Amino acid sequence: MAQVPCELHHVRFRGPARYYYPTMVHGQSQIRQRLRLCGECAADVRGFCEEALEPVQPELVSQEEDRLCAYCRTADPRHYPWAVFVTAYWAADARSDYYGRVHDLCAEPMAASLSLPWLELGAR
Ligand SMILES: [Zn+2]
Ligand SMILES: [Zn+2]
Repeated sequence: MAQVPCELHHVRFRGPARYYYPTMVHGQSQIRQRLRLCGECAADVRGFCEEALEPVQPELVSQEEDRLCAYCRTADPRHYPWAVFVTAYWAADARSDYYGRVHDLCAEPMAASLSLPWLELGAR
């Protein structure tokens, strides 16, 4: 179907494209990305998201006080200024949403792990 390059490994691929939208927010600072992925890159990204982040389940009240930093897995709920949101379409009609929070110091490596363009954030 898709004869366009995967935006992660930059090679044209066969088969349906997957779409991946990571965002990180801290106050007025925000970085977003929109990537079209091949199936293999989508599987890698999905593995990371499912390991590091929590699926957003609207019927569940999130327990902010029990949350670990999504990057270093430390429990320190007062000091996670960065919110991480990922929306992904791992299949054409199946939307998945993930959420997590990270420390200031963990924000840059988290952005790198999510393929977010940290340097575009500028001064924060
Ligand atoms: Zn790829
Ligand atoms: Zn951390």
